[in-house]
Amino acid sequence: MNLNYTAEEESFRAEVRAFFEAELPADIRSKVRLARRMHKDDLVRWQKILYRRGWGAGMWPRRYGGADWSVVEQHIFDEEGAAAGAPPQIPFALRMVAPVLMSFATAAQQNYFLPRIISGEDWWCQGYSEPGSGSDLASLRTSAVREGAHYRVNGQKTWNTLGQYADWIFCLVRTRSDARPQQGISFLLIDMKSPGITLRPSSRSTANTKSTIFSSTTCRCRSKTWSARKTRAGLTQNSCSRTSAPIMPASAIANAH
Ligand SMILES: Cc1cc2nc3c(=O)[nH]c(=O)nc-3n(C[C@H](O)[C@H](O)[C@H](O)COP(=O)(O)OP(=O)(O)OC[C@H]3O[C@@H](n4cnc5c(N)ncnc54)[C@H](O)[C@@H]3O)c2cc1C
Repeated sequence: MNLNYTAEEESFRAEVRAFFEAELPADIRSKVRLARRMHKDDLVRWQKILYRRGWGAGMWPRRYGGADWSVVEQHIFDEEGAAAGAPPQIPFALRMVAPVLMSFATAAQQNYFLPRIISGEDWWCQGYSEPGSGSDLASLRTSAVREGAHYRVNGQKTWNTLGQYADWIFCLVRTRSDARPQQGISFLLIDMKSPGITLRPSSRSTANTKSTIFSSTTCRCRSKTWSARKTRAGLTQNSCSRTSAPIMPASAIANAH
């Protein structure tokens, strides 16, 4: 097996290196090198620079604005970024919610959310963990009750990394309680400006929101249902989803848009 880079890959590396050299702002580079805290503005500014170059989401398919990179190209980009002092891209929007949208959302949901993700317009956080529900998400208790065109959400999420910056949160919530604990869980996209959401900062970490509390939060919904089996298969097959795909099957995708 030949593990050497091909001539095309070496040429891609040179292109990436030259781009970082020319386009990575000195103040961002310096913060990364000195391990200083990055602010939302820094990360969004860098995402917009990548987006303008066509590299906002390297591994996304071209039809969604990506560059269709192979795993090797993404690796080269990451390696050169680390060497140049570029901040890593935050995965929640680009690598966690976007592949789910590409596989299961309606065209309207895709057309609304994906361009805003790749251009850095919307910031997303992840809402799976709860106090008392960590690795075993079958125990999650945050509930979403369908009321006509809305879901009414009640419960508490925790460990919401960078949730204090988020415009949207993707959540696993319980929409049925009469089934096995592993069933009746749905994937909701919730606007963080929805009434009834309270954020509590973490005392241990500036990067984490300790809790996101939903108190009778109403989400307008346009839901689309898919089978648990389809969800699992789709997520594991999706090459963009490198980390933390929902480990529980979801039964519906809905959003407040
Ligand atoms: C820095 C940080 C950021 C995070 N950000 C987010 C976020 O943005 N959004 C979010 O939803 N979550 C987030 N999490 C939560 C994280 O993804 C895990 O879900 C959570 O930490 C695990 O839950 P727990 O801490 O309650 O541990 P538990 O689930 O209680 O696990 C405790 C220990 O038991 C082990 N264990 C659990 N189940 C089994 C089993 N069946 N067999 C053997 N061993 C087992 C675990 O490996 C672990 O060692 C974050 C966590 C950290 C540390």
